[in-house]
Amino acid sequence: AKSGLAEKICYYESSMDEAARVRRNTARDLWTAVENDELRLLYQVQRSLGDNSIVGYEALVRWQHPTRGLVPPVEFISIAEECGAIIEIGKWVLAQACEDAAKWNGDIKIAVNLSPAQLTDPDLVAFVRQALYRTGLSPRRLELEITESMVIADRTRALHILRQLKALGVTIAIDDFGTGYSSLDTLNAFRFDKIKIDRSFLKDSETNPQARTIIRAIVALGRSLEIKVLAEGVETKNQLDLLKLEGCEEAQGYLFGRPEAVEAAEARLLAQG
Ligand code: C2E
Ligand code: CA
Ligand code: CA
Ligand code: CA
Repeated sequence: AKSGLAEKICYYESSMDEAARVRRNTARDLWTAVENDELRLLYQVQRSLGDNSIVGYEALVRWQHPTRGLVPPVEFISIAEECGAIIEIGKWVLAQACEDAAKWNGDIKIAVNLSPAQLTDPDLVAFVRQALYRTGLSPRRLELEITESMVIADRTRALHILRQLKALGVTIAIDDFGTGYSSLDTLNAFRFDKIKIDRSFLKDSETNPQARTIIRAIVALGRSLEIKVLAEGVETKNQLDLLKLEGCEEAQGYLFGRPEAVEAAEARLLAQG
C-alpha cells in the first residue's frame, strides 16, 4: 500500500501546481481585463469628524471576471504588479475615477491608489495631467494614495515623480501609515498632504492601550507637520468616539459605509445636500 507520506507529498505538489496554475491564468486574463471592460470601481466614503460632512471617496477596484465572478483586489493586484498589467489597470482606474468624480457637486475629493510600479512609469505624470484635462476635474480634488514601500523601492525616482505630480496640483496621501519599515523617514522625505493611519492600530485600540497611544502620537505628528490625518477601518461607535477624543480630523470605514457603486455614492452625496 502507498504510504501516507507519499500521498501527502503528492497532494502538496499538486496543490502547489494548482496555485501556480491559478496565478498564470489570472495573469493571462488580466491582460485583456481592461479591453474587455471587466474592471469596476467601488467608492468608499470619507468623512470629516468635525462636522460629519463627506470630504471624499476612495476608489477601490474590482474585477468582474467572466467565469470567476467578482474578484477582490487581494486576488489580483499583486499578480498584476508581477506581470506588469498593473500599468494599464492603474491608468483605467485613474481615468474612470476622474470621470466619475468630475460629475459630483462640491469640493469632494477622489482618492486613487497607486501601485509602486506606476511610480516608475515615465508616462504617469502626463497621463494624470491628461485625465484631469479631459474630464475637467480640478487637480486639487484628486488625491493619490501611495504606500511607504513604493517610496523605498526606487526612492530617488519615486520622489522625483511625486514632486512632478504635486506640481500638477494634486494631493498625495501616505497609505497604511505605521506599517512600513521607515514611516518617519518616508514622512521626512516628502511633503505629504495626508496621513492615513492603518486600520490595524484602530482594531487594536480597544484592547491594547499602546495602540491608542500610537494613534495619539500620529495625530500629534500630523498637527505639528500640518498634514491632515485620516483613520482607516472605523467599524464601531467606540472607535469613532476614541478618534474624536484624540482629535483625528477624518475617518473612513464600514461604520460610515462599505465600498459602493458609483450610483450609491452619488445618492449619498445628494442626500447630504
Ligand atoms: P487599501 O488601499 O488600504 O484600502 C482599504 C481596504 O480596506 C479596502 O479593501 C476596503 O474595502 C477595506 N475597508 C474599508 N473600511 C473597512 C473597515 O471598516 N473594516 C475592514 N475590515 N476593512 C475595511 P479592498 O477594496 O478589498 O482593497 C484592498 C487593497 O487593494 C487596498 O487596500 C489597496 O491596497 C488595493 N487596491 C484596491 N483598489 C486598488 C487600485 O485601484 N489600485 C491599486 N494599485 N490597488 C488597489
Ligand atoms: Ca488606499
Ligand atoms: Ca489603507
Ligand atoms: Ca492596505
